[in-house]
Formats: sequence, C-alpha cells, structure tokens
Amino acid sequence: MSDLAEVRGWLQDAGSVAVLTGAGISTDSGIPDFRGPQGIWTKDPAAQRMSTLSAYVTDPQLRVRSWQNRRAHSAWTAQPNAGHEALVGLERSGKLTALLTQNIDGLHQKAGSSPDKVLELHGTLWEAECLSCRARRPMAQVLDRVDAGEQDPPCEICGGILKSATISFGQALDPVVLQRAFEAAASCELFLAIGSSLTVQPAAGTCGVAVEAGARLVIVNAEPTPYDERADALLQAPIAEVLPALLPNV
Ligand code: NAD
Repeated sequence: MSDLAEVRGWLQDAGSVAVLTGAGISTDSGIPDFRGPQGIWTKDPAAQRMSTLSAYVTDPQLRVRSWQNRRAHSAWTAQPNAGHEALVGLERSGKLTALLTQNIDGLHQKAGSSPDKVLELHGTLWEAECLSCRARRPMAQVLDRVDAGEQDPPCEICGGILKSATISFGQALDPVVLQRAFEAAASCELFLAIGSSLTVQPAAGTCGVAVEAGARLVIVNAEPTPYDERADALLQAPIAEVLPALLPNV
C-alpha cells in the first residue's frame, strides 16, 4: 500500500484532525516561502532583518523599505489553491478541530475556512498595529497613506510606529492563540503538518505536543524537517497535488 493510501485510511478512521500550515501551502498561489529553494531568505539572507523587531524600531530606512514591500506584496491579489480548498473540505467533514497556520496571507479564510477554526500563530498582514498604543486598523487604510506619499506613516492616534500585525523576530506570540493551538495539538487523533520547514518555535513545537499526546503525525513537505523522525508518515510531494488526493471526502 502506498503511503498516500495508508494516510487516507488513517484520516478516515480519525475522529479529530488538527492541521498546521506553513508558507509552503501558499507557494502555488504565487507567494514565495522563506526557506524553500525559491525562498525569500534563501535568495537574500539579509532580508531576514526586515522581520526583526529591533531593526524595524531603530532603522527608519528599513521601515520605508518595509512599507514598499507591503505595498507590493503578492498576498493582496493571490488566490487560494487546491491545497487550501482541500482543507475547507476537511472542515466540512466535521473532523477538523483547528487549523493552525504560520501564514500571514489570509488565504485559508479566503478559501472558505471558518475564521473561528483558523489560528493565525504569526498574525496577519491584513491589519496594521501601533507598536506603542496597540491600536489596530485595516492594512488597506495605511497603504492608502503610503500611496498618498507618507513613506513611514505613524499611528494617527499616538504618533507611534506602525507595523503589520505580524510576529517579527523578538516579538511574543499572542498567548491566547498559542494556548488554543497547543490544546488542539494535544487533543487530536491525527496532526497534519503541511508546507513548513518546522524550524520556527514555538509553532513547530505543536508537532511534538501532538506526538507526545498520542496523535499520529503526518508531514507533507517537499524538504526534510527536524520532526521527520517522529512522524508516522512523510509525504514529500507538491502540496496542491497531495492534499486533494488525501482529502477528497474524508
Ligand atoms: P518556510 O519558508 O520555513 O518553509 C516552507 C517549506 O515548504 C519548505 O521546507 C519548502 O520546501 C516547502 N514547500 C514550499 N512549497 C511547497 C510545495 N508546493 N509543496 C510542498 N512543499 C513545499 O516556511 P514556514 O515554516 O512557514 O516559516 C516561515 C515563516 O515566514 C512563517 O512563520 C510565516 O510567518 C512567514 N511567511 C509566511 C508566508 C505566507 O503567509 N504565505 C510566506 C512566507 C513567510
């Protein structure tokens, strides 16, 4: 029996499934990942500084470049692909307890996944947050100001520094979202990790939590990950092909 057929059987038997997705599920929607062969950081390691909070706060020129990058981000026009859609099907089956994602692109919700199932561990690009007063507003409002000529638009309430409501290096994850994610990992029968290098903690740690609680771990990723040895199955193939084959009508 192929791995794929075996994993399909496990999914059919499982009463509850939790999923963790990473940037790899969105590459077929035209959004590059960070660490894959075509990844933003693979091609330009210096770009990692853009995602580091201390650099963002202290370097106004880096903020100007960050706003230009946000303006040009592929997320604004990207459409969900067959991988995202297969996970909507999994939710319809009633087995999906939570969809943990490291992605900030909003494509799961765009595909039709329920917002209350999606746990955005690293925040969202669709909102901007003030680093001082924490007020949030839609990203589109701030990008309109960038278009109108403000290179580094400050918070209109307190004058603080604005940033996308995403988690940079040096920034803490939302403790409520993180707790829900760990609870989902600890209480599912099968944990599916999709399109992540599983190198960013604490998100990747949900795989270990699931295994320690007795769940089966299935990893779908083109490249090896640090959790491969603990997985019950590894599907190293394109996500947009594997997920529709794995989750037709589970
Ligand atoms: P990563 O870049 O570290 O790893 C992505 C993995 O997906 C790689 O191992 C790559 O080989 C694999 N992959 C890429 N395309 C694939 C495909 N079509 N089929 C199978 N495998 C494929 O991504 P990560 O682990 O999610 O960590 C990156 C961090 O950067 C995340 O925490 C996230 O916050 C952020 N990020 C988000 C987006 C997004 O929202 N789409 C994009 C880039 C980075």
